[in-house]
Amino acid sequence: MDIYKLRDNFDAIVQRVESARIRRSEHHIVQIVAVTKYVGTQEIRALYELGQRAFGENRVQDLKAKTSALEDLPLEWHFIGRLQKNKINHLIDLDPWFMQSLDSLELALEIDKRLEAKGKKMQCLLQINSAKEETKAGVMPERAYDEYLKIIEETKHIDLVGVMTIGAHTDEREKIKESFETTYKIYETLKPHGAQICSMGMSGDFELAIECGSNMVRIGSLFFEGIN
Ligand SMILES: *Cc1c(COP(=O)(O)O)cnc(C)c1O
Repeated sequence: MDIYKLRDNFDAIVQRVESARIRRSEHHIVQIVAVTKYVGTQEIRALYELGQRAFGENRVQDLKAKTSALEDLPLEWHFIGRLQKNKINHLIDLDPWFMQSLDSLELALEIDKRLEAKGKKMQCLLQINSAKEETKAGVMPERAYDEYLKIIEETKHIDLVGVMTIGAHTDEREKIKESFETTYKIYETLKPHGAQICSMGMSGDFELAIECGSNMVRIGSLFFEGIN
């Protein structure tokens, strides 16, 4: 692994996030989650040495392997993938910092039951299918507000603190922007109900997402380009 290239990638990402957040507002703070689903523990350790603390994985198995191999480090783990019912207990046992991909009331109720049994809590974000794509998980935008309130009402152990979306899958910037704006509007209506995090933006569109109000970006491939 080319550690210097990794450092350069990291620096470039930080600078681009910094410029984008200032275009939004000088008071706008953005957290960077490094998505490590493409790499192993060596790369995660290297990023930790460079100052990165928040990491994201989209499969429970991988999260489990990596958290146990990296137990000695104080990392913040974010689960960002589709959660199958039979993996709920495994995820809870891993004590993730955030579960970003809560995509229905039904899943929330199921997780809540297991949390109750284990005497635990979990911070979650409601995933919104902001471009209404069939291949994507998430609540439809027009139902998101009601679903969010129902989850708050009907669960005791889920701490719902915001929303997450994946931008529209297209090369058209306008369409991607629209999906971010849709999500941000929903986020704003949910602020009085405790929403604090609007997680949107990946390697290809994080600057646009930040300009639309994102305060958490999930960046994977850009970190690791050319390091091997
Ligand atoms: C893989 C993934 C990312 C990171 O994607 P890149 O394009 O590699 O930056 C972000 N969010 C989710 C939900 C992902 O699955």
